[in-house]
Amino acid sequence: MPDRLTYLDHAATTALRPEAAAAMAPWLGERFGNPSGAHRVARAARQVVDEARDAVAATVGCRPGDVVFTGGGTEADNLAVLGVHAARPGPVLCSAIEHEAVLSPVALVGGATVAVDRRGVVDLDALAAALTPDTTLVSVMAANNEVGTIQPLPEVAALVRRRAPSAAVHADAVQAAPWLDLPDLVAGADLVSLSSHKLGGPQGVGALVVRPGTPLRARALGGGQERELRSGTHNVAGIAGFAAALTATRAGRVETAERVRALRDRLAGGLLAAIPGATETGVERSGRLPGLVHLSLPGIESEPLLFLLDEAGVCASAASACASGAQTRSHVLAAMGVVPDRAAGALRLSLGWPSSDADVDHALAVIPAAVARLRKAAA
Ligand code: PLP
Repeated sequence: MPDRLTYLDHAATTALRPEAAAAMAPWLGERFGNPSGAHRVARAARQVVDEARDAVAATVGCRPGDVVFTGGGTEADNLAVLGVHAARPGPVLCSAIEHEAVLSPVALVGGATVAVDRRGVVDLDALAAALTPDTTLVSVMAANNEVGTIQPLPEVAALVRRRAPSAAVHADAVQAAPWLDLPDLVAGADLVSLSSHKLGGPQGVGALVVRPGTPLRARALGGGQERELRSGTHNVAGIAGFAAALTATRAGRVETAERVRALRDRLAGGLLAAIPGATETGVERSGRLPGLVHLSLPGIESEPLLFLLDEAGVCASAASACASGAQTRSHVLAAMGVVPDRAAGALRLSLGWPSSDADVDHALAVIPAAVARLRKAAA
């Protein structure tokens, strides 16, 4: 076992916040109840779920009644794409760097992707060219999970309104929610996805915000929960933890983002200085999520590097969690035009709310030495 563990994979999942654990504890113990029932035990559970709607609404800037709880970000994204398509079949578009939870359902309904530029920012000219008056859905993430690029959502929404007035706009805000002020950013989006475990809540809970008038047909059919949009007995403990994590995130968001941004800048600067040939991928740091460093390290492959880092107690990834191991080339880097040679040595380090100076010190002590070792072995 290494002496110290430094977790730099918060974009994959982050630690449970103590506020979330405390909110969940009673519902994993003495309290229980099906929120759909009528008696007092059921009503008490329903109250927890309804209070949680307020927490989502405050984070996104929507009405509590617009919130549909789901089993996570993937389910929220699937419901947005497949649900709009089922309600109003027609051409669907998404950016080329969406998470697979959007890309796969868009592919399933025969949709198309829109190019991004070298920084990972959606190409508004390409979007304008792809939109037609009969487009029914456009999905563009608020911020990317691999390189952290923040997308110009207000411009995207305004463009869609002009060119395809009846299209719904969906924003996957799963990665943006821990860091950015969402209400302005997603004001033009009809559908917004969130995931609890990216901001310190439990895994397996999320939400889709559905603004009034958005055409949407349920995917999960059954008891008619969540305004008939997502059947299934509520995960009351999970929803309580999600709400507590949202509230804690909102209360400390600005300070946490500033503190983590400074840590990130020290980490990125230190690695660039210590590793010859290393470059940062994508947009300038101000256009990126505060917790994300994405490096391209020529002359090495991600997989053996991740192995050495893991041995030394540094948990990192090459791309998103679903593609970690770097077996397949990242679709995000490919869309950004990163050549395969540079993409092969990709390293994503993602900091989160519990990250500290000691984490950065440890990473700076371990990563350049591991890269040097691999380069020497390959020489
Ligand atoms: N969307 C983005 C941008 C993500 O980063 C993730 C998580 O990896 C998801 C969706 C899926 O969320 P979940 O893990 O809650 O299913």
